[in-house]
Amino acid sequence: MEQTTADGLLDLRADCSRCFGLCCVALPFTASADFAADKAAGEPCANLREDFRCGIHTELRQKGFTGCTVYDCFGAGQKVSQVTFGGRDWRTGSRADARRMFDVFPVVRQLHELLRYLTETLTLPAARPVHADIRALLAETERLTRGTPRELEEVDVPAHRQRVNVLLLRASELMRAGAGRRKERRGADLIGARLRGADLRQADLRGAYLIAADLTGADLRGADLIGADLRDADLTDADLTGAFFLTQPQLDSARGSAGTRLPGSVTRPAHWAAGF
Ligand code: SF4
Repeated sequence: MEQTTADGLLDLRADCSRCFGLCCVALPFTASADFAADKAAGEPCANLREDFRCGIHTELRQKGFTGCTVYDCFGAGQKVSQVTFGGRDWRTGSRADARRMFDVFPVVRQLHELLRYLTETLTLPAARPVHADIRALLAETERLTRGTPRELEEVDVPAHRQRVNVLLLRASELMRAGAGRRKERRGADLIGARLRGADLRQADLRGAYLIAADLTGADLRGADLIGADLRDADLTDADLTGAFFLTQPQLDSARGSAGTRLPGSVTRPAHWAAGF
């Protein structure tokens, strides 16, 4: 498999119509600002309908399930439902199959997240020196996602992630060549920081904590945003053109406006227009 365009990235997004609501069953959540109730792993959410659709899909934020609106399985849900388990759902299959389905879903989700980053790297021209290695790892990762349930259970995800990360780091260096040490903000604690209008061009913001930061009008062009925590960050009128390794869940967790400029790898969150 080789996907090298923004369309390829969109293919690595959830398609709930081909999934048996796996994220609504397999994953646990705790009552909090993001979830209105507790739920154990393997237990169907009380809002999940018989047809595997969410009964409160259009009012998740109003009903206290914001966490669901910022979650993306990167296409793992449909892969596990339709490929790994060949279209057998957890309601009608055996209990053992259901348990195994819930166990492998997080594994495939992590692999799909890696596929998403690898695929994006192939759209970054400055990262061309690592494209051949990226293609090889992309093919290997895709092959892993197509394993049997037993094979998937045995995948060493942290080790595989580490191999991917080495290449993503190299790609980031190539993309941000010449940015200078001033732009090194990797893992920085920028919670609530006042970064209105800040020059963050080509900044390394890998894993930075930007929760509730004021990034109004900030210049984030060409920034590496992998793993940056953007919950409630204000991106109103910020410029993220060419920013990379920004995922849709990250963006969905932030606030923004019609004036926020986005890279082609993500789409403008619908709730920005609604003012949530
Ligand atoms: S509230 Fe809806 S989207 Fe969220 S876990 Fe429950 S059924 Fe799924």
